[in-house]
Amino acid sequence: MNTHLTITTLPGVGQKRAELLAKLGIETIGDLLYHFPRAYQNRGNVTSLDSCENGATVSVVLTVATAATTAKLPGMLTLTKFVAFDDTGKCTVTFFNQAYLQTAFQVGSTYRFYGKITRRKASLELSSPAWEAAPEDVILPDFTPVYPLTTGISSKMLDGMIRALLPQIDGIVDPIPESVRVQHSLIPLAQALRDIHSPTDYAALDAARRRLIFEEFYLFCMQAQKNAAENATAPTEFARVAPTSLAPVLEQVSFTLTDAQTAAVEDIVTDMTGDTAPMERLLSGDVGSGKTICAACAIYLAAESGYQAAIMTPTEILATQHFHDLAPPFEALGFSCALLVGSLTAKKKQAVRAALADGSVDIVFGTVALITDDTDFANLGLVVTDEQHRFGVNQRDALAAKSNGAHSLTMSATPIPRTMAHILYNGISISHIDTMPPGRQRVDTFVVNESYRARLNAFIEKQIVAGNQVYIVCPAVDNSEDEDNLVGLDYREGEEQVPLKSAVVVARELQETFANRRVAHMHGRLKGEEKERIMRKFAAGEIDILVSTTVIEVGVNVPNTTLMIVENAERFGLAQLHQLRGRVGRGSAKSYCILVTESAENSASYERLRTLAECYNGYEIAERDLAQRGPGDFFAQPDVTRQHGSLKFRLASLCDSFDLLKDAAAAAKTQTTADLF
Ligand code: ADP
Ligand code: MG
Repeated sequence: MNTHLTITTLPGVGQKRAELLAKLGIETIGDLLYHFPRAYQNRGNVTSLDSCENGATVSVVLTVATAATTAKLPGMLTLTKFVAFDDTGKCTVTFFNQAYLQTAFQVGSTYRFYGKITRRKASLELSSPAWEAAPEDVILPDFTPVYPLTTGISSKMLDGMIRALLPQIDGIVDPIPESVRVQHSLIPLAQALRDIHSPTDYAALDAARRRLIFEEFYLFCMQAQKNAAENATAPTEFARVAPTSLAPVLEQVSFTLTDAQTAAVEDIVTDMTGDTAPMERLLSGDVGSGKTICAACAIYLAAESGYQAAIMTPTEILATQHFHDLAPPFEALGFSCALLVGSLTAKKKQAVRAALADGSVDIVFGTVALITDDTDFANLGLVVTDEQHRFGVNQRDALAAKSNGAHSLTMSATPIPRTMAHILYNGISISHIDTMPPGRQRVDTFVVNESYRARLNAFIEKQIVAGNQVYIVCPAVDNSEDEDNLVGLDYREGEEQVPLKSAVVVARELQETFANRRVAHMHGRLKGEEKERIMRKFAAGEIDILVSTTVIEVGVNVPNTTLMIVENAERFGLAQLHQLRGRVGRGSAKSYCILVTESAENSASYERLRTLAECYNGYEIAERDLAQRGPGDFFAQPDVTRQHGSLKFRLASLCDSFDLLKDAAAAAKTQTTADLF
């Protein structure tokens, strides 16, 4: 079968229907076969009339008892109805405005109906059901596909066209090689297409879905690989790391690694001690899943083998925090550490740079200050990038370019879309920390509006009285109109423009409301040392309420904070809000996140925020964010997002199918892309 043939070569498809189908993206026979149902009606699950519940959608097999009659209703409407029965009772079947059905049903004949049933006292009514003749000698399929539609194309029409094709698809070319199929227990394409359109049972449907999702990912990864191969050849010279016991670094922490962390560390060890290419690994894991210790293991491996390691973060606060957390244990192990951020005095920066160039500093923590032209490394062997999504791809590459052949470990807490990007751009490997350390609690999340302000303030007071601290996050720095105010925010056009709460103003108001509490504010326009001073005071418990922009977003850890209030929450992306929420609930006390919005209840943006109250899985949130807002400009690279590099997966939910994605990426790695397409 030639799947490239246009749809008009099919019987019954003329120019007009072809135009309608084109609206669904269906132009060839292949497109039609890959137009998958969005749902299925389980019509095989037949109920008896006496057990139908009011309001339920049911499948019933009934014999027609009376001839249909059609009544005219006011306003040109018609109501066609007849009575039908099964062994357990009888039911009135009604159709609105389908008077032509009056002659469709034969008294004494049996039909299968699928629709909504209403119970009124003793009588049952089935309104406008789907129906099909069900003579005793015919076995009807249990599952009826429900297709994505457009005006003028019915599900029944698509079903008919596709069903007519299915017997002819045995010879269809399977893009997944048999060896890969066997290894990953995937059914052949022809069977998958049959079962996705016309499954016999749920097991067949699941197997078909799994296979087709795998195919989407596999082709996507093959294409990405092809792109990557065209762009780069692996360096032959790279940091050669010797295997060594990680006990010294693991002894520095009081906990034992979770299984997921252990697996990630094993991946890192395998990559770094391998002898074919430097590590290119993405370490993805929800906020608080414990990525830092995994990075520390990588740093230790590099340093033990005599290489320098650089840890680059998007903000000075985070660089400083990593420095404070990690430098003491590494110095205890005999390595020299330094911090390199923009706010250091020129002299200090110069000194650090000199030490990096002559190799007297082993481990450096820093921001983009690490990638300036005047920063040179004596022997850079590892680049760790934390929360990489804040960086452009170019910045990370710039650091990698400081040492051809340095190992690269990228940590991200918003993995799904970014992960796709990584596969897309680099074909890099992924370690996924999918479980949280034991004892982690859920941050209860609520969406409220201004009318809750008094209660919110009382709640703030209650937290402080209990000895806890509070974060308030605002979308703007101050009330100036300048563009800077929106830097770093997911600013969406098209939303109603409510005045933004600004950190400076909110802090002032709160200080009035809470006259005897210590209120401070922080934002990106403060000098680095000022931010650091405030953050230190907050961490030391010397500030009760910290009003801030998103500069506190990444990685900052103050376990005593139990309440986060986000003002103008609708201005933030879901994944970003989830990240912010990860700043609280880090200690043992119950913690809360309250999203304040002026968006009307049941508006789209209110519903979007409700996602966070319902969902605590960062992967799922990122996935929903992706679904609602699209992949964003990160993917707006025309050359790679088309065709099989497209991020519009038909079946695959990136969230549910993460393991399949990993398998597909691994399988693609074993294949050559030379003859792809
Ligand atoms: P993230 O993945 O967000 O960077 P971190 O590495 O900052 O997470 O870890 C969050 C917190 O969890 C830290 O306080 C860390 O000490 C702690 N932690 C990490 N791994 C474990 C573990 N296996 N058991 C207990 N606590 C852990
Ligand atoms: Mg972190």
